[in-house]
Amino acid sequence: MQKTGDRLNVGLSSPSDGADPTAAYVHIPFCRRRCYYCDFPVSIVGDRPPLARQTGSDTGFGAIAAYLDPLCQEIAHTPGDRPLTSIFFGGGTPSLLEPGQVQQILTALDQQFGIAAGAEISIEMDPDTVDLAKARGYQAVGINRVSLGAQAFQLDVLQACGRTHTPADIDRAIDSLRQAGFTNISLDLISGLPHQTPETWEESLQRAIALAPTHLSIYDLIVEPQTAFSRWYQPGESPLPSDQVTADLYRLAQQRLTAAGFEHYEISNYAQLGYRCQHNGVYWRNQPYYGFGMGAASYIHQQRYTRPRTRAAYFDWVKNLPNRPGPLDVPIDPIQDTFLETVMLGLRLAEGLEFKAMADVFGLGLVQHLWQLLTTYTDTGWIEWAPVLESEHHSHQDKGHPPSPRVRLSDPEGFLFSNVVLSDIFQALGDDPVETPCRERMESAV
Ligand code: SF4
Repeated sequence: MQKTGDRLNVGLSSPSDGADPTAAYVHIPFCRRRCYYCDFPVSIVGDRPPLARQTGSDTGFGAIAAYLDPLCQEIAHTPGDRPLTSIFFGGGTPSLLEPGQVQQILTALDQQFGIAAGAEISIEMDPDTVDLAKARGYQAVGINRVSLGAQAFQLDVLQACGRTHTPADIDRAIDSLRQAGFTNISLDLISGLPHQTPETWEESLQRAIALAPTHLSIYDLIVEPQTAFSRWYQPGESPLPSDQVTADLYRLAQQRLTAAGFEHYEISNYAQLGYRCQHNGVYWRNQPYYGFGMGAASYIHQQRYTRPRTRAAYFDWVKNLPNRPGPLDVPIDPIQDTFLETVMLGLRLAEGLEFKAMADVFGLGLVQHLWQLLTTYTDTGWIEWAPVLESEHHSHQDKGHPPSPRVRLSDPEGFLFSNVVLSDIFQALGDDPVETPCRERMESAV
């Protein structure tokens, strides 16, 4: 784990910032079964014993092996001249990979970009896809952070979601990881699941705390169209908790986790001192990153790109990479307004937005307009001044001027109503619809 302190400077990458990324996301789009709330583009490999070795077939678990060559070819065709300081294997269920397969991808990344000493290298893991041998294997190839998708600690809740693991699997996975030497383990929990109550949520929080993770991500369920949940349930109606109960679950998590010593540093994330997720910090700071693999998105030189979302189309796209003028293709909308992105991402963070730095990048007019909008929330208590950080104070003293004010959403009420605040800001300052962070897609929770 790269412990670089707990400072996250909020996203002010200038539109002229052309540096190559130092963060890489690697997408592994395979799962054993589809969870009932999930609409991600994943290939289902079936329920064969999760720790069995893959065959040479290109279906089932063999499909995972067939994916690696195109993935590594894509990496080899992507230019970049800065060593990576964070790598994140996400999915899907990346822990379906054997350690040797992870090593193959890490070697490709190292050969192309270099991997910096102390880089944070994370993998998302489902609790029933790891045993001690596999955990040791991951440790040996350089993984140093695990994000474990616990989601809940009640068997009936897990089964109602179509999850393949049990609460006992969570304990076993943590035990194996610790025995293998992992010290940086994050747990994901989801609130708002069917049959969840304040009592079972309290139980999940307490069991998670008892496992002493270094980090916790708490996501609120979204019932997405095209999922089994959307056919079965209406948001806010039984067996899903009501909106009022869901809000109470958010408050309960904030109370219990901060009382247990976790810092609520981002709207959905809590960390022990020194264990904020460095990789996700890149997204929240609006800094560049590579994305590799089917459907993955990149943000390079102020342009966002995405890749084909089916395996066949992705394999075709990789085959043609050498003939293309650039290494990447299928650009999605370039940033129309970095300012709005910066506001949306910055307000996710406990450190909030620093107005002077924003004015330097985006101009005083826009920042004044934002300020006027935010002051309309003064009476609600959702907006507050953020304290100047010790490190910030010193750095500004060095520059001979005082630090400028920071504004943030209050915790928990401001975070809870962030969708209201951000919708107003987007309506006033831009045309794009806002994807509300409080009810974000559970991209990191799988
Ligand atoms: S929620 Fe996660 S584990 Fe479940 S199907 Fe979706 S990507 Fe796979």
